Amino acid sequence: MKVFGSSGTRGVANEELTPEFVLRVAKAAGTAWGVDRVAVARDTRYTGRMLADAAASGLASTGTDVDRLGVVPTPGAQAYAEREGVPTMVITASHNPPQYNGVKLVGSDGVELAVSDLETVEETLLAETFAVAPWDETGRVREVEGVRRAYVDELLASVDRERIADAELTVALDPGHGAGSLTSPEFFRKLGCRVVTINGQADGHFPGRDPEPVPDNLRDLGRLVRATDADLGIAHDGDADRAIFFDETGEYVEGDATLAALAAAELDSDDTTVSAVNVSQRLVDVANEVGAALELTPIGSTNIITRIEELEANGRHVPIAGEGNGGIFFPDYRLARDGAYTAARFLELVAERPASEIVAPYGGYANVRRNVGYESTAERDAMLDAAANQAQKADAELNTRDGYRIDHGDAWVLARPSGTEPLVRVYAEARDRDRAEELAGDMYDALVAAKEGA
Ligand code: MG
Repeated sequence: MKVFGSSGTRGVANEELTPEFVLRVAKAAGTAWGVDRVAVARDTRYTGRMLADAAASGLASTGTDVDRLGVVPTPGAQAYAEREGVPTMVITASHNPPQYNGVKLVGSDGVELAVSDLETVEETLLAETFAVAPWDETGRVREVEGVRRAYVDELLASVDRERIADAELTVALDPGHGAGSLTSPEFFRKLGCRVVTINGQADGHFPGRDPEPVPDNLRDLGRLVRATDADLGIAHDGDADRAIFFDETGEYVEGDATLAALAAAELDSDDTTVSAVNVSQRLVDVANEVGAALELTPIGSTNIITRIEELEANGRHVPIAGEGNGGIFFPDYRLARDGAYTAARFLELVAERPASEIVAPYGGYANVRRNVGYESTAERDAMLDAAANQAQKADAELNTRDGYRIDHGDAWVLARPSGTEPLVRVYAEARDRDRAEELAGDMYDALVAAKEGA
């Protein structure tokens, strides 16, 4: 796919991601869907309104009515799509910087479009075979009120409200000026928590911090946790499908540790969990301890969604899946990442014991990353052959879904060509830093030697 990557299409607004482009995507989606009604939602980005207007116009021109949902978290838009049975265009660039925007396409089941459906939209877009309605059959555009409220109500009905309320927790919340600013404070308050916020005003210029919930952007949240004696710090990305936590001491909790802790609480021995090939040893250990199966997909949430759908079609139960970036699926609830829902599920655990204790068993891993650049496909291919060789030499389990992941049981190393840059990336993880350095170093040396011989 040229237009749609693994997480929709993104770019700098009004340069790469223009109203003209969004209009054409909307015409293509409206044509491919061929339904009576489609919804349009957006996050808080300054350019969101302009681009959502283009989306609505494009859809209406194909003859479909348009529900304008306004600013709503992506998972809230997905909830609307499923509830109303209407496909939805979401104007969002998720965690990207303020100048970016993008388009996500959601099916009438509330799930992001699968690769095969995106390809249909893309073919229509590139061939410009758009449906064109006669003037008196173009779509009607209407504003829908109360979408955020309905989303919050649905969330409240889906988690253990009593358990959380009884614990009388304080939550320090950093929605990062994104779409979660308009829903998460109310949600956690209605769960019975005392809520203190930072960067809590919806603001498309993101004055307080960039939308990506990484430690460098979240220092103020750590301070707020300490200053208010909060039980948990919660941060979202721009469209609030992710949640990153700080424990009660104001320490940043790695997303991999959160995923492992939630998986330990969720998985039974007959279950399967799904993650990407750069999955942390922490989740591997949890799956092994419980006796659950772990399936690895190529990196990217679309791949994880597709694999969950396949597994469930074959009668497997996948109660939890996701990646260490705070994007977690609870497929029994919905096959969508939802930052507020994820945080509430974590609060169910915090109601019993402190956050630092919950994640303590999943700390203490060392991660090492190295990159090797290349200038020709010959160099790249030689490096990948070398990675395959390394895999063969090692007395370990091999996964080739996306590059070469060599699993030693207690530690692993992955060599994988970058999707966006001329690089082969090497990742390694172990309990012990020396062991992680050694695994990454051996792979790195083998790749460099192969490149020089190419
Ligand atoms: Mg996001």
